[in-house]
Amino acid sequence: MRVLMNAGPWLPVPPAGYGGIENIVATLVPELRALGVEVVLAGVGESTLEVDGRVSVFERGQFPALQKPYNQAVGVVQAHQHAVTRALAERGDIDLIHDHVEAAGLVTAAALGDGAPPALHTLHWDLHKHPELYGTFDGGKRVRVNGVSASQLARAPRALRDHAIGHVHLATPLAAQPVPAVNRGSYAVVLGRINPGKGQDLAARLAHEAGFDLVLAGPVGPYHNAAELAVADGDNPDVRFWREKVAPHVDGVRVRWIGTVTGRDRDLLVAGARAALFPLRWAEPGGTAVVESLALGTPVVGVGMGCLPELIEDGHTGLLTGDEEALGDLVHKAVTIDPADCRAEARRRFTPAVMARAYLGLYERLL
Ligand code: UDP
Repeated sequence: MRVLMNAGPWLPVPPAGYGGIENIVATLVPELRALGVEVVLAGVGESTLEVDGRVSVFERGQFPALQKPYNQAVGVVQAHQHAVTRALAERGDIDLIHDHVEAAGLVTAAALGDGAPPALHTLHWDLHKHPELYGTFDGGKRVRVNGVSASQLARAPRALRDHAIGHVHLATPLAAQPVPAVNRGSYAVVLGRINPGKGQDLAARLAHEAGFDLVLAGPVGPYHNAAELAVADGDNPDVRFWREKVAPHVDGVRVRWIGTVTGRDRDLLVAGARAALFPLRWAEPGGTAVVESLALGTPVVGVGMGCLPELIEDGHTGLLTGDEEALGDLVHKAVTIDPADCRAEARRRFTPAVMARAYLGLYERLL
């Protein structure tokens, strides 16, 4: 089976730091290849993932274009999709498309017609986005979609749900050398984009009120560290959120922001935390950072929204609440969760091999 894996034009695969979708593609592809699937990657040229073929129109990731106005940014994804459709026609040897490109990937696959290979489009997003598209979508059931959690798909508009063939949870490799529980720090960590939906403002306020140390890690819009943020575009909504709601609580002692962390630094940061905190205000669709925390043996404390109740067993691998003001107490109680239970759950449900077998099952159903 030969699959065209469309990762889009935004970031390399694997990404250097932030990049939820690109991380998942990088995790999935080696496992699929180990199962005998040939993978042609449609992405940017600088991607270093080992594959059986490549399609790209941009050498470098075009992520910064996403911050530009529509009329300056729209051509980027169109150029990428144009290259993908050309490659499909020229090669003529692709059995199936597995697409990860928001909106544009879905409609391109739907427009390819009956002569083209069937397509699976993975919905990595909050499905309240794009109501005009998702509410009227008709891929003739030749294009199928999958969610990254059951709760995400349950909230999808009817037209989109009619094309769904199930959900596949996100996955992460189990860390080779987890930090032992005795070394577990006293701090909590919020790892993710600094964004109102991810609730860093709430975490930062509660850290002062409930008396726990907090490390915030992740980019603010396209800005990865304090130096970049100092000269940031103040009109960017995430920059405004940071400056108005989060930064006032960041004193560098009780609450620190360390910018984007990557690789081993990220693993050590999460593995050394007492809890990974998810003070959600949005229905988190798939929660890569959630399964990463479990794999590192770090209990998850969060608001039980979106995929969290599906991924976390309350009282066993984490502590969930419907009351955001209770999160501070739960950070203190997180020591009652056994890191070994978190890792066992990650090994059972969220490994790359589990995810790849689930996707292969969907590919076979489509074919
Ligand atoms: N991430 C990272 N460094 C950071 C912040 C986030 O490597 O400083 C990674 C994180 O480990 C995860 C991804 O970016 O793999 C975020 O994916 P998630 O599904 O949690 O959130 P999204 O941003 O896609 O809503």
